[in-house]
Amino acid sequence: TLWNLGSINADHVYAVPHIPAPGETLAATGLSRGLGGKGANMSVAMARAGGRVAHLGAVGADGGWMLERLEGYGVDCAHVQRHDGPSGHAIITVDAAAENAITIWPGANREIDPEAVKRALERAERGDLFVTQNETSLQVEAAAQAHAQGLTVAYAAAPFDADAVRAVLPHLDLLVLNEIEAQQLAQALGQPVEALPVPNVVVTLGAKGCDWIETASGARHHVDAPRVEAVDTTGAGDTFTGYLLAGLSQGLAMPEALARATRAAALKVGRHGAADAIPTLEEVERAAL
Ligand code: ADP
Repeated sequence: TLWNLGSINADHVYAVPHIPAPGETLAATGLSRGLGGKGANMSVAMARAGGRVAHLGAVGADGGWMLERLEGYGVDCAHVQRHDGPSGHAIITVDAAAENAITIWPGANREIDPEAVKRALERAERGDLFVTQNETSLQVEAAAQAHAQGLTVAYAAAPFDADAVRAVLPHLDLLVLNEIEAQQLAQALGQPVEALPVPNVVVTLGAKGCDWIETASGARHHVDAPRVEAVDTTGAGDTFTGYLLAGLSQGLAMPEALARATRAAALKVGRHGAADAIPTLEEVERAAL
């Protein structure tokens, strides 16, 4: 089982002629609502990749449709808590040039009951995998528990916060960050990511692919991304990380899991949307990339 302690957000996407300036009032020309949040995206990616996924987190009173959608993708939501307040949500304005501005209300994602997470994780078995990101509470507590129980522990350091990464580092087997986050972390720690006390570090490089660093030997392996026309990079990193972890849980070696994740993320950037735009394993294998 892939255990994911992660955010669940309603993405409200407003199409606007331009991003509103301070003090400006603007009518949007389009509105769509979708499932998002790094946690939910990653759970959907892992499930679409064929993994068995149990999501840990919380939604508010308005979050029923999001749980239904997650379950529709095959994500087990039995341990997702239901609160009275609002669900996490994102107000996303996108202009004609696909530039965006995003405001996030964390809502229920930051009010997850620690005892419930602890009890849920106690059901995990050695050999299971645990992943979390920086959009919920309890990352460090849960990662420490998973590590102590013998699970493989992965962390996606986004949205980036140096203190959050520093706190979770001792419990990690795998750290995934993008290029900017890797630079920020190296600067905050005063050492290169090659020197991190984490066995495997993967740095994603957008259209350039990714680098996988085995810190024990310092070996750096590069994977190229296929050339695609990018229409929406929302959730590209989540798709990549979800597919990578699902692959590892299915017994793929790192190079094969990275290759599959790279193909999945490339397909995602060719489509609009977040969780709902993540390709299935069949699509990933069939695509001519
Ligand atoms: P994030 O979305 O977290 O900032 P990246 O931009 O590095 O992370 O993207 C994550 C992964 O998505 C990359 O490693 C790559 O595999 C894939 N990807 C992102 N942008 C593109 C692109 N324009 N073309 C092909 N693949 C892409």
